[in-house]
Amino acid sequence: MKNTQFLLAARPEGEPKKTDWECVEVDVPAAQDGEVVVKVHYISLDPAMRGWMNEGKSYIEPVQIGAVMRAGAVGEVIESKTPDFSVGDHVYGHCGVQKYYVGSPKAVGFHKVDPNIAPLERYLGVLGMPGMTAYFGLLETGLPKEGETVVVSGAAGAVGGVVGQIAKIKGCRVVGIAGGADKCKYLVDELGFDDAIDYKGEDIHQGLKRTCAKGVDVYFDNVGGDILDAVLTRINMRARIVVCGAISQYNNTTAVKGPSNYLSLLINRARMEGIVVFDNAANYGKAAVEMAGWIAEGKLKAKEHIVEGIETFPETLMMLFKGENFGKLVIKV
Ligand code: NAP
Repeated sequence: MKNTQFLLAARPEGEPKKTDWECVEVDVPAAQDGEVVVKVHYISLDPAMRGWMNEGKSYIEPVQIGAVMRAGAVGEVIESKTPDFSVGDHVYGHCGVQKYYVGSPKAVGFHKVDPNIAPLERYLGVLGMPGMTAYFGLLETGLPKEGETVVVSGAAGAVGGVVGQIAKIKGCRVVGIAGGADKCKYLVDELGFDDAIDYKGEDIHQGLKRTCAKGVDVYFDNVGGDILDAVLTRINMRARIVVCGAISQYNNTTAVKGPSNYLSLLINRARMEGIVVFDNAANYGKAAVEMAGWIAEGKLKAKEHIVEGIETFPETLMMLFKGENFGKLVIKV
């Protein structure tokens, strides 16, 4: 059997280019004691992958030059030399951008997933890392209360769509910020958001004035930059800002643009707090049960954007930064 792997060939400056990757074909070795061979079915494409390509201190080690690019994935065990996993088990773990993972299950955090409960790709979205980010980031850091106004950016994406729906479940008024009329229509018509701002078609300050007459109590920030700065001018007393991500800044070749309106935090006795999803790993199971319940009741909808073929990886990754994905972006291998 042959494996196709995408290796990190160079650290990008600005937007990743095709030459920052090397695509190789190698033989799939047999599993050694304690190892498994997993055939990868779906690979998760996440904005965080851009950060993992950079040198420097972060919440996780950078991917080394020449190493297989790190990525979450779901697949099926086809060979096992460990009692913990059997042939036929379906698993989630950081398999990387490759067709087969061969190695220790522990090294990539494998846990079993059940394709009879949900389609495999859903374990990369609402029932996976982005869903957990939304759940813990909103409920434990955003602390939304019934009747409050919650604003979320990147609202039609993997994390943002779940944040807004959970905020609705908790009785909040929810406004989504997304790029394009189609995405905004989807937020209101399909996901039940109260309103939406198309930041590409409407001035963000005007949009916030139009949709948040009573100010903003919780802002779940996925994008940073100018949108964060604009929301800061509309926050209420004791508002909570969840710093989840800043995709507008990830490909900068100059310094990250910080919020010039941060003194609004002082005036409003408000706070901004960063989150990293992995900190909640011990409680994922509990959250997944509650989220699966909401899905079964029709209160939480999932949307995946599936692109076929591992060979599309360099271009598919860039869809995230161009706003071309509509829902959780995955590659079907
Ligand atoms: P996603 O929202 O599914 O996809 C990215 C979206 O970002 C694009 O579809 C695009 O939507 C928007 N975008 C791209 N460039 C933008 C820009 N310059 N300004 C405004 N919006 C822009 O991605 P995701 O997986 O859910 O991740 C969302 C954010 O959460 C990212 O910042 C990610 O790094 C972060 N995250 C953090 C954690 C954590 O533990 N802290 C975990 C997971 C994800 P539009 O069409 O609306 O522009």
